[in-house]
Amino acid sequence: MDQVTLVVVRAVESGATTTKRIIDATGLSRLKVERALSALEKQKLLFRESQGSWALGIPPSTPTVRQCGTCTLCCKVLEVTDLGKPVNTACNHIRTGGGCEIYDKRPRQCRSFSCAWLQGHLDDDWFPEATGIVPHFSLDALNIQVDLDCPDRWREEPYFSKLCELSLNGLKANGPRNYATLVIVGSDKYLLLGRTIVPDPTLFGTAFVPTTRDTFRYWKARSLEHLQRLNDRVMEIQRIHQEFGDCAIPDDDDPHPPYRPALLQLSKELRAAPPVR
Ligand code: SF4
Ligand code: SF4
Repeated sequence: MDQVTLVVVRAVESGATTTKRIIDATGLSRLKVERALSALEKQKLLFRESQGSWALGIPPSTPTVRQCGTCTLCCKVLEVTDLGKPVNTACNHIRTGGGCEIYDKRPRQCRSFSCAWLQGHLDDDWFPEATGIVPHFSLDALNIQVDLDCPDRWREEPYFSKLCELSLNGLKANGPRNYATLVIVGSDKYLLLGRTIVPDPTLFGTAFVPTTRDTFRYWKARSLEHLQRLNDRVMEIQRIHQEFGDCAIPDDDDPHPPYRPALLQLSKELRAAPPVR
């Protein structure tokens, strides 16, 4: 998936369902947005109807073995636009004791949804009704949708450590299996880079380099062009690190080429600086 399509997917998944709202959110031209939407539709990764566009989640890789049972948490925390149901509001069609009163006629969004626990990606102790967390895969992300009744549950153990592990797996995975881990708590969003929490990630992406095994230094991109420059500098940091075994990580978030001389100079200055006592 190219960067433009990825940005369009993120915009759709963030609630920009009409072409105008996607253009407003991304700053991309109408032509680019239309092309990306058509390509996604052809690949059956998105469907469009009169009310707007909806990205589809990744289907389970193996047949679902679990049952929802008494859980109806996704019917509360997720938006169902076909019903005009906002996020974090219980659907009127939830049946007492679990299930859906209009199961055979439920909207397409409900039919196409299954959480990552139901898909078998997480252990029994991640049962959404008990945790207050609905984990679900979208096209490029593992979304951790948290019930507003327990907004900090994701920061508690054992959940946070597992989320860090899933985040690192997503960053390490290659090609189409690569995913970002995004925590959504009401209107607040956090990107997880291992144990590093990035508040309010942008639609354009985040460039990052590891500082320890599971923590990262990051820079949030303000446009696709900005992301390209940030990523180019990250690649240069990695090249210098490979060559010399070390490279200083700059603080500034607006780099311009050539990156190598500035990075080498900064590394030299830091090596020469007296140790802080
Ligand atoms: S959150 Fe998962 S387990 Fe709970 S009702 Fe939704 S799909 Fe089923
Ligand atoms: S229509 Fe049924 S499946 Fe869809 S959110 Fe409401 S209760 Fe859940």
